[in-house]
Amino acid sequence: MRHVPVRPLIVDALAYGRGKRQATRDVIGAGPRSIAGVLESTGIEPRIAPVEAALGRAFNLSAYNLLMVSGMTSDIPTVRKMMRRWRKESEGPALIGGPVASDAEILRRVDADLAVTGEGELALLELLSLGLNEGIIPGEDELSSVKGIIYGTDAETQVNPLRPRMGRIEYDELTPSTRTISSYPLFRAARVYVEVLRGCSNYHRAQGALPEETCDACNLCRSGGLETRYYCPHGVPPGCGYCSVPSLFGPPKSRSVEKILEEVERLLLEGVRRVVLSAPGFLDYGRDLLVEPEPLTDPRSPQPNYDALERLLSRLSNLAPIAEGEASLMIENLKGDLVTERAAKVLGQYLSGTPVNIGFETGSDIHSRQIGRSSTPRENLYAVRRLRKAGLKPYVYFVNGLPGQNEGTVKATVSAIDDSVAAGASRIILYRFQPLPMSAFQDLPRAPPAARDPLSNRVHDAAVRANSRLKEKLIGSRIRVVVAEPYSRDRRFHVAYPMLHGPVVLVEQAQGLEGEVLDVDVSGVASDRVVKGTLVR
Ligand code: SF4
Repeated sequence: MRHVPVRPLIVDALAYGRGKRQATRDVIGAGPRSIAGVLESTGIEPRIAPVEAALGRAFNLSAYNLLMVSGMTSDIPTVRKMMRRWRKESEGPALIGGPVASDAEILRRVDADLAVTGEGELALLELLSLGLNEGIIPGEDELSSVKGIIYGTDAETQVNPLRPRMGRIEYDELTPSTRTISSYPLFRAARVYVEVLRGCSNYHRAQGALPEETCDACNLCRSGGLETRYYCPHGVPPGCGYCSVPSLFGPPKSRSVEKILEEVERLLLEGVRRVVLSAPGFLDYGRDLLVEPEPLTDPRSPQPNYDALERLLSRLSNLAPIAEGEASLMIENLKGDLVTERAAKVLGQYLSGTPVNIGFETGSDIHSRQIGRSSTPRENLYAVRRLRKAGLKPYVYFVNGLPGQNEGTVKATVSAIDDSVAAGASRIILYRFQPLPMSAFQDLPRAPPAARDPLSNRVHDAAVRANSRLKEKLIGSRIRVVVAEPYSRDRRFHVAYPMLHGPVVLVEQAQGLEGEVLDVDVSGVASDRVVKGTLVR
């Protein structure tokens, strides 16, 4: 039989939930480009499409013979829609990857042929060499030896063992695609994520929020050596109980400055204007080098690798569009315990005026330890203060409905929200607890919506109040934005995103200005997430 060359379509369903992205329409994650880079390295030219485009009437799915969907657990409704449409219009196989693919039942849940769990790049290379490069799923015999995949046999679903995690050097050899960025309609206005490190150094465990028999309080995960912390004698997954990053990706491994620089340079040449250096904890960058060859499984020691951070940020800040203010550089998340005075100073030197995320999750000390956090609420508050003083705009995260939430933790969390604002937080972001596969809390129930839980409702109200106060303070200020697209709910307005920090801005009379970087004066508050602004001509 003569096989046709593969024509892969990578569909980005990340954060689409039930079909529409709300708050994060301007985010382009790093995962789909990383998979596209693997395909490009073998001479294949993939196309990436955001799921809303791929589900559009005009999109011709029959032009492709391999579907690869990337999503999170919360995106299952949209992934299902995508699969249904694919089955109607193409006969090619459908693969699923991203965080959603760590669930053993995922093939049945979304009607996929094969799932790639955890780090997908090397599994994909192996599958390509076994026949996927011709648009066909390899036979069962061949699949049985590929680590990190889930596939269906005639009789059952086969879950192969996870792949050993990639080493730092192997990981650094990967080259994410930059050519495909222009497949995203909003790429000029969007925050484009560039991975600087993968994995998480928090190997503490959620000791106190699990049944007693699962942890005998040996304390190895908090005080053992770096190798010892890696394994819990009772098999409790590492990290915060609500998070699966350490289980899926292991301890941090940093990319080299050269590889990051090359990727950012190419993205800027394509027309990207907002770059986010993506990492579960940016201050872990280069810390792995300080303990190599041991794994970085201690989230608190050693201190940040200040030299590595300086090298990375200074080289990136010198790229012409960034140095000239035509493009912006931001970072993603920080762990509060690593925000030393010196770290805040380094960040302030290169990233002044940009947002940075600090996870509190709870305001209670005891609860924080129970859920496996690496930093205490007090340390997080210090971090907010230091970052603010250094000129950054801290966004502070909390999680509602976490296991162990009670009257006392809620009281402490409401205080922590108010204290964070007083310490200089620019925004409060509240999530609802959702158990993730491969996390310590994977078997616990999802939290109900805040409206149905009086305790969560108090936290929700405190967050809304805090954000409204912060937005009102913005009225009269001038911010630099990049115009994105017409506002779907009121065509008089265009949606614009701040280059550095701030809420989404609705601006009038911006037709034809999509992709332009302009100043706006904030004139009013539209909601707790959106303000209105007037273009400065
Ligand atoms: S290593 Fe395991 S058993 Fe020991 S304290 Fe940590 S979670 Fe408990």
